[in-house]
Amino acid sequence: MQTETKSMKDLMQEKWTKRPLIISGPCSAETEEQVLETATRLVNTGKVDILRAGIWKPRTKPGMFEGIGMKGLPWMAQAKKITGLPITVEVATAKHVEDALHFDVDMLWIGARTTVNPFSVQEVCDALRGVDVPVLIKNPINPDLELWCGGIERLQKVGVKQVGMIHRGFSNYGNTEFRNAPMWHLPIEMKRRFPEMLLICDPSHICGNRTMLQSVAQKSIDLDFNGLMIESHIDPDNAWSDAKQQITPERLSEMLGELIWRSENTDEKEFLTALATLREQINHIDDELLTLIGQRMKIADKIGKYKKDNNITILQTNRWNDILAKAFKKGDKLGLSKEFITKYFDAVHLESINHQNKVMND
Ligand code: PEP
Ligand code: MN
Repeated sequence: MQTETKSMKDLMQEKWTKRPLIISGPCSAETEEQVLETATRLVNTGKVDILRAGIWKPRTKPGMFEGIGMKGLPWMAQAKKITGLPITVEVATAKHVEDALHFDVDMLWIGARTTVNPFSVQEVCDALRGVDVPVLIKNPINPDLELWCGGIERLQKVGVKQVGMIHRGFSNYGNTEFRNAPMWHLPIEMKRRFPEMLLICDPSHICGNRTMLQSVAQKSIDLDFNGLMIESHIDPDNAWSDAKQQITPERLSEMLGELIWRSENTDEKEFLTALATLREQINHIDDELLTLIGQRMKIADKIGKYKKDNNITILQTNRWNDILAKAFKKGDKLGLSKEFITKYFDAVHLESINHQNKVMND
């Protein structure tokens, strides 16, 4: 048992530095058969490094499936024994940590709903004091990088040596194409702050559906993420949680095969790689900007309709002057010239007026 545990520790060490690192498994452990069959089919793909499953599920509303609990841990241990895959589960309390470690879980992760709460993160950290186990921490559900950094610092402070990050997107009000908006500039900023730290993308929780999984995964790879955590299930449509976003192990394998992994071109000069990364960042920020401007125009449409219903003109010059004055002030602080601000707002203003005009004459 001891040598087995030791070799599993070594294997886990290898996985920690393997690129890309692929973590997969069901959103939730449901039954012993489901866990074992998922694990077997995943290992058969030859592309998965670590088996995941949610044992305790933080659900938005009571009455939803809140996880199988402790009962699922021996199933995970058995799955590891059969497949040789290291296992990982989400922990949110000291008791979860204790139970998971009791069943030799090889890696833990802190979920997005836990990262938002410093009391909970600290409780988990206190339980990890003096324990040698790798821990991944998901971004908080709200776009607050300091909370994410705070969680990392708390883990490091209690002596956790291997800390990694998982980007799973940020919750937004209303319906957007994503279940959780990726806001790529935020993980990019985390990469800037923690350049050596493992950074994994979780396209499943970003997308909330199967159709966009591959493109989001590809985006993260292009941004030089170190790996993926993707939920998989033997019968996705009938999963007890997150049914819409899970895929079969075979579909996962196909998808991983289709992804284009940026090759580590050692001949390439370092500056070229750096340049490519920076350009990638700019592309993604531009993409975000366009999305935001699109959203802005949707609001302009609503305003147009409102003005029409109330018989008010489109143009209120004072309001526009106020916007410009504020933008000049902010632009000054951000190092943006007045010339740029004027051009940008002229363009946006014109587009906005055109939108409102169209609505008024519809
Ligand atoms: C999960 O990974 O199953 C999960 C609950 O994710 P998140 O914490 O990102 O919502
Ligand atoms: Mn899930």
